[in-house]
Formats: sequence, C-alpha cells, structure tokens
Amino acid sequence: MKMESCPLCGNGVWNVLYKISEWDIKQCEGCDFARIHPFPSVARRQEFYSEDNIQDRKIRKKRNAAGRAAALIRHILRKLSGRKKGTIFLTKLTAYLYKGDRLLDIGCGSGAILREVNRDFQCVGVEISDYFASEASKLDVDIYIGDFCAIDFKDARFNGITMVSLLEHLYDPVEALEKCYRLLEDDGVLLLKTVNHQGLNRRILKEQWSGYRPPDHLVYFGPENLRALLLRIGFRSVKMTAMPFNDSFYCDAWK
Ligand SMILES: [Zn+2]
Repeated sequence: MKMESCPLCGNGVWNVLYKISEWDIKQCEGCDFARIHPFPSVARRQEFYSEDNIQDRKIRKKRNAAGRAAALIRHILRKLSGRKKGTIFLTKLTAYLYKGDRLLDIGCGSGAILREVNRDFQCVGVEISDYFASEASKLDVDIYIGDFCAIDFKDARFNGITMVSLLEHLYDPVEALEKCYRLLEDDGVLLLKTVNHQGLNRRILKEQWSGYRPPDHLVYFGPENLRALLLRIGFRSVKMTAMPFNDSFYCDAWK
C-alpha cells in the first residue's frame, strides 16, 4: 500500500527502519520524521485508553523486570536531582506566565500539572481517556473529554499551552500544532515534551528503544524537524532542549 507524502516536508519516499510486531516504523527520506504504518483504527485506540486496559498495563509494567528497573532508575535520578515529576514544566510556567493567565493542558491525564498550578492560572484541561478525565475533574478545573483536534473552544484563547508526552500519540500532529498556534494569544507560549527520534537512545537501542510503542505511539519527531515545522506554522521563536541519554526532548515555542 502506498503511503501519502510526508506531512512535514511533502517528500513521498519512506524507508522502513524496523518492523515491530504488526507495524512498520517508517522514516521520511526528506526530513527524518517517522511514523508507524499502518495507523491503528480509532476504535482500536479508544479501546487502548479504556479503564480496563490502562489498569492492565499498569499491572504488567509492575510485573515486568525491565519496567521495574527503568522506573527505579528514573526515581533515583529524580531523587538525586531533587526534582519532582513535571518540575521542568512547573518551573517554565512560573517563569513565562503571569498570575491569572489562561493555561490549556492538552493530554492532562489525571491532572498532574493542573493540580500544581490551578491556584495561579485559569486552567483548562483536555483528556481523551474517560478514566483519567474523571480523575482530573476532581480538581476545580474545566476538563474537555475527547480528541483535541475535534474540540470547539469557541473564542477561548490561552497565554500558555502544555503538551506533555502527547505529540507522539496523535494521528495528525501538524493539525494539532496549527490549532495550538491559533488558540494562543500573541506572545503566548507552547511548552511540549515528546520522544526524541533523533536522540542517542534511539540510535543505540534501535528497535528495542522504549519510544517505540505501537499502537500507542504513532509519530516520531526530532528537535530539528519539529523546529522547522513550528517555524513554518508561524511561531516566531523556538527553543529546543535535548539531553543525552534522555528518551525525550523539550520544546518552548512562542507565538
Ligand atoms: Zn519529511
């Protein structure tokens, strides 16, 4: 089956990097953007985010020796650095936004970020999983349940948007980032973290890399092609932070 051209650069040549269970990992020859092929059906993905499946994955992760070891290492590194989970985002939000500013957290999960900042900012969350959204709704925050691209925010505009480990889950990341741009006030900032397909971990571990999680992770960026995309969308300034041996990279983009 012929795949459509690359949504970032328009190139039509895709190279198969790996085959992981029933999916190919394909990379664009023009810009290194990568995706799984074929994409799973929306129904299959919704099933993936049901409460039963989320609980089942949590249990399997705990039973799996590699999963336990990775969690322990992350825990120790966080302890050593004195950082709480999500601290990078909290520090940036405090630095970039004013008290009372409007913040949209897309893929807010059970509200890890919103819980920390909803006293300082006017917060709105978006979450596709009913299970996580019901947790987040316990906070005094407006939560939209559903696919970000399908939600009508009417005239709402935001000073800040966060997308923590969300981009890799989207069928159409370009449409989502364009929508973020439209939803931001002038001088507003988009803060995101996504898996780093150009990073050392991926290059060393190859198909064993933890970022490859089909059908959960659909698309893969690196700092360079994401920067090019954000500038093309219209963001005036883009800052990327990629640390060696980190599976993800961070991006701050100003409208
Ligand atoms: Zn491309």
